[in-house]
Amino acid sequence: MTRVSSRATAITESATLAVDARAKALQAAGEDVIGFGAGEPDFPTPEHVIVAAVEASRDPRNHRYSPTAGLPELRLAIAEKTRRDSAVDCEASQVLVTNGAKHAVYEALQTIVDPGDEVLLPAPYWTTYPEAISLAGGEPVVVPTTEATEFRVTVEQLDAAKTPRTKALFFVSPGNPSGAVYPPAEMKAIGRWALENGVWVIADEIYEHLTYGQHKFTSMPGLISDLAATTLIVNGVAKTYAMTGWRVGWIVGPPDVMQAAINLQSHSTSNVGNVSQRAAIAALHGDLEAVAAMRAAYERRGHRMHELLSAIPGVTCIEPQGAFYCFPSFEGVLGREIAGRTPRNTIELAAVLLDEAKVAIVPGEAFGAPGYARLTFAVSDGDIEEGVQRIAKLLA
Ligand code: PMP
Repeated sequence: MTRVSSRATAITESATLAVDARAKALQAAGEDVIGFGAGEPDFPTPEHVIVAAVEASRDPRNHRYSPTAGLPELRLAIAEKTRRDSAVDCEASQVLVTNGAKHAVYEALQTIVDPGDEVLLPAPYWTTYPEAISLAGGEPVVVPTTEATEFRVTVEQLDAAKTPRTKALFFVSPGNPSGAVYPPAEMKAIGRWALENGVWVIADEIYEHLTYGQHKFTSMPGLISDLAATTLIVNGVAKTYAMTGWRVGWIVGPPDVMQAAINLQSHSTSNVGNVSQRAAIAALHGDLEAVAAMRAAYERRGHRMHELLSAIPGVTCIEPQGAFYCFPSFEGVLGREIAGRTPRNTIELAAVLLDEAKVAIVPGEAFGAPGYARLTFAVSDGDIEEGVQRIAKLLA
């Protein structure tokens, strides 16, 4: 008998968190490292949210267990917000409040996936998805995309990857790490395909408010109302309201599945911290003014980062459409000698950049897309200028 279960042994460390931890450790040791690793807003949480949390922490009602599925006011606010932003008709009873959207992804899969079920996973994908699928006993079926299609998957690709064991499709727009935003017509075609083939959709809508230029968010079950019966929407306050550390996310889905998910959570984490839930209520009740200001800053920074990256010989990059990442291809620089080393893949390139330029990026291997790398532009304008110039200089 082994000390660690095969289930836990099979999990790899989150590459994005590992890169961020390494960059932070170097910074703590006095190194001048610029970190493009973590996918985290650099803005403070809006003041009215903090005030609500301070008040909540003094209220004895919040010092006790509360309903597993979430505080009734928060479930109501999430249902209202989902009707407003996703155009999905839903009730508060269909909402489960989770410990962040990551936990929502985990629980969604635990609730609908049986051992042997296949889950279609367009790549590049967020690094947690394949691990969460495997933990549910499912098999991730990766469907690769490239910058040639702006990292959007097609119905033809999905159809070719489908088998009688296909249970669900992961769909995220705007995407992490690609920033890809699907136009409504393409999204509708994929949604129709899912509906016609009885494939569930896990729609991760966490970057809904962060879109740029002419790109706009739309919700797949909002476009095809019949799809709501076989869709689990995953979302949270982390990215929109600069609240990553508060750990509030949610799932919205059909009543039978949501009851099963609530049962599951009742035996694992119970209710999410009440103070965080109260903070989330304040965030959702507030207007989107602070969000608009942050979005405008991300748009400016993304534009600039894209400009700087595109100017590096051998690097190509599509303009960010949403979220807060550039996802350039470094194919053109692999195999070249850089500071006496010859990186053959983006994992090795990331190590060279960290050692020689003191810049942290996340290799595309972490997202099922070797040859690419992710750089977050949720950092200061100064860090973008300095960090990308350092990369350019090293690769020159
Ligand atoms: N989904 C996607 C696509 C993400 O990028 C992230 C955060 N990196 C999450 C979910 C998880 O967010 P949370 O902090 O709420 O767990």
